[in-house]
Amino acid sequence: MRRKIVVANWKMHGSLSTNQSLLEGYLRHLSSLQHTDVVVCVPYPYLAQAQTTLQNSNIHWGAQNLAKFPVGAYTGEVSAEMLRDFGSEYVILGHSERSTAYCESSENIADKFMMAKTHQIKPILCVGETLQERESGVMERVIAEQLNHLLISRGAEVFRGAIISYEPIWAIGTGLSATPEQAQSMHEFIRALIKADEGDGSNPTRIIYGGSVNPNNASLLMAMPDVDGALVGRCALSSEEFVKICLAAEKLASE
Ligand code: PEP
Repeated sequence: MRRKIVVANWKMHGSLSTNQSLLEGYLRHLSSLQHTDVVVCVPYPYLAQAQTTLQNSNIHWGAQNLAKFPVGAYTGEVSAEMLRDFGSEYVILGHSERSTAYCESSENIADKFMMAKTHQIKPILCVGETLQERESGVMERVIAEQLNHLLISRGAEVFRGAIISYEPIWAIGTGLSATPEQAQSMHEFIRALIKADEGDGSNPTRIIYGGSVNPNNASLLMAMPDVDGALVGRCALSSEEFVKICLAAEKLASE
């Protein structure tokens, strides 16, 4: 049985004071969740604040990127070891906002994925197609190519315990979510590709959906059999909306 997981991606938003009230808003309403993992991925400077505020709670925290090198002369980079110093348990990798703006290759992303795993940080690996790719019907091939670097070099077992976030690029921040059927179909494809149902089931790969998830569409998306949760951008900046999404996951998980 795969636990539901809802991840907040704060992107480059926040300040010490707004973060504090947001985190306290999350805590107020989510501390009794039993069947859903909640994770908040904050900008690096706020990891200490996340650690101090969340450390005795059931809400986990993490970052939105890490360096592919362990240590050294890499100006501006942040290592996996540093993330661990602040209690980070998760890291978002390969988000399309990074791969487009910083020309990140699948090879780089695969190196970062391995670095996270080596440091017991759970990678949340983002994959997704553009609107043009979807309209020309090549979306499955595109997603397979994004996963193949790891799949071919490390084998399907590398994804055990990791999270894959299917994020159609056309749905991120646009208000235009994939339909539950579109999400289900791609999640099913990914699950088969990475042979996620094999193994003893103790360390499953969870496949979550990201792209304009909001309190109105969250239940329908997460009710799909292969949708294990959500990666939430804009709605994670409102504790009221994020809480509703997490409660929807909890309700589905307890049914
Ligand atoms: C995201 O940050 O990955 C995301 C899905 O953003 P939004 O929910 O705003 O579309």
